[in-house]
Amino acid sequence: MTIAIDPGAAALVEALRRAGHKAYLVGGCVRDSLAGRVPHDWDICTSALPRQVLDLFGEKQCIPTGLQHGTVTVKQGGNLYEVTTFRVEGGYSDGRHPDHVDFVADVREDLARRDFTINAMAYNREEGLIDPFGGREDLLVRHLVRAVGDPARRFEEDGLRILRLCRFGAKEELELDPATARAAVAERSRLACVSAERIWQELYKLLAAPRPARWMLPEIMGQILPGLDCTGPAYRDSLRVIDALPPDPLARLAALLAPAGPKAVGALLARLKCSGAQTKEVKTLVEECGPAPDGASPRRVVRHLLARLEPDTVRRLLALRQAQTGRAGFSAMAQALDALLEENACCRVNQLAVNGRDLMALGVPPGPAVGRLLAAALDQVIEENIPNDRAALLGWLKENRTI
Ligand code: ATP
Ligand code: MG
Repeated sequence: MTIAIDPGAAALVEALRRAGHKAYLVGGCVRDSLAGRVPHDWDICTSALPRQVLDLFGEKQCIPTGLQHGTVTVKQGGNLYEVTTFRVEGGYSDGRHPDHVDFVADVREDLARRDFTINAMAYNREEGLIDPFGGREDLLVRHLVRAVGDPARRFEEDGLRILRLCRFGAKEELELDPATARAAVAERSRLACVSAERIWQELYKLLAAPRPARWMLPEIMGQILPGLDCTGPAYRDSLRVIDALPPDPLARLAALLAPAGPKAVGALLARLKCSGAQTKEVKTLVEECGPAPDGASPRRVVRHLLARLEPDTVRRLLALRQAQTGRAGFSAMAQALDALLEENACCRVNQLAVNGRDLMALGVPPGPAVGRLLAAALDQVIEENIPNDRAALLGWLKENRTI
């Protein structure tokens, strides 16, 4: 078995080995390569101590990312690579971080501290695959995510692994090893030790998986989203919608939270410490989840939406409503959205062929009346009663300046 290694990573491994150290590619890049995907980053582990890594590659080429934990980021060929000294961890008194790490000489000891067998493989050209826990077979033959060692202990050490289990299962579309899944559910309260930011990061990645619903175990989701009922039919319906949506975490999060209603959504998002922009987007989606006006032309409905919302939000909203209702009308609206954007159709006051100055020239006093009239003119344009044409708009405004 040979892995086509990224040239920068290969050069670093080679340099470490020539200097007399052990060095391997490790973790996600080995897993992804075995699964036939191109890895997005290439992590390296080595017997060299952080100081030796800094000396070998020169401080200028290195960023001391986490020296106490053994990680140095090395620049090579325009890319960045994390080079981490083999280590074991001990004492997890906060349920998330090791109390101390010890550097060790053997890659197998380092692999044993990793979470799942599919993430606990190392590789280099000379020695091939180092796979002490059967990660390759789990990935390619048994199609399983399985904890390295005793699952309950591993989740006790670090509660984040509970969510990582769901994430890797969903991302790789692998079954959960039954004993590992049972332990994750039993130990779910350990997630309380994990920071909101890390939970949100993992949930975001989970929601970006192809069809994550099967891995969104109700007990675990209920633990990270207190107040959301994850046991009833509404949750099962949200899961169906999530799988029907494209892998867009924000649209899927809106689907997940919609049954809680707009008010509770704000509180749940604050708890997850989502960014202001993400919070606004998800809240808007949940608030706008009402029925589409019946009988209205898709083009007009979408233009009214574009008058209030950003194009990306409208696109998400239409995908969400389509997945929730299964109604073809929403895909007609998505097509109308593309067409409207393509032709740069006027949907906002600032796209009108007239502006506030034109109104004042017509004798409208400065103040709220200007905004009201422009909004009314926009409505006329969207309803296709008048074209977005200066002369036509001025004519209409002259007749209607008192509304
Ligand atoms: P991705 O493609 O999502 O980045 P990855 O496998 O690289 O997948 P990371 O979160 O980047 O995942 O972690 C890199 C490696 O570090 C993992 O493959 C795993 O071996 C180890 N690891 C990361 N987090 C943990 C953890 N909480 N507990 C144990 N091992 C971990
Ligand atoms: Mg990674």
